[in-house]
Amino acid sequence: MTARRFRLGVMGGTFDPVHHGHLVAASEVAARFDLDEVIFVPTGRPTFKQDSRVTEAEHRYLMTVVATASNPRFTVSRVDIDRPGLTYTIDTLRDLHAQRPDADLFFITGADAIAQIAAWKDADELFDLAHFVAVTRPGHTLDLGTLDALKVTAVEIPALAISSTDCRERARAGRPVWYLVPDGVVQYIQKHRLYVDAS
Ligand code: ATP
Ligand code: MG
Repeated sequence: MTARRFRLGVMGGTFDPVHHGHLVAASEVAARFDLDEVIFVPTGRPTFKQDSRVTEAEHRYLMTVVATASNPRFTVSRVDIDRPGLTYTIDTLRDLHAQRPDADLFFITGADAIAQIAAWKDADELFDLAHFVAVTRPGHTLDLGTLDALKVTAVEIPALAISSTDCRERARAGRPVWYLVPDGVVQYIQKHRLYVDAS
């Protein structure tokens, strides 16, 4: 009898800030796919000017740690924020595969993100490195089109119309983000005055 392989979910995102939509997506997919762990991977921050609106990686990393700390199956990886330059999902998966060769990878993505998948760098290798799980998201149609059903699975999750963009706008305008993001993240945003002075 062969031993059961470790099942590792990978939740990539900018997490600027992390919110309950991300957490519900990870939790639902973990239950549906019997995952042993879900690793949240905040993207790197491009050094060039036009992306200076993305909050410093260290803040996004720490908010993700705060948001996931209470769940024994959730962890956070620095693999993307410690790699210089733009984050490509192929690099994330290659690095995680090298770090955890014992694990089968399940890459979790929302309906909006999977739509761009064909345009991703090295799309074929992507599907060899991980099984892709596309979750529903309010305001976006989950259309897997010609994507191979053996490699991508659609999963319906509770609809949370929450986006980081809206959370940032709320924080900037002094409107509440309570209950859209975990309490510790609300407090982290306030403590570091994130989003307040951004243009
Ligand atoms: P932004 O508005 O800055 O783009 P976001 O809310 O889309 O932020 P991301 O960090 O871009 O958050 O998303 C990371 C991943 O989580 C993506 O695959 C995205 O599709 C998915 N996701 C984000 N919010 C939700 C949600 N409310 N429901 C389901 N999936 C979501
Ligand atoms: Mg997004």
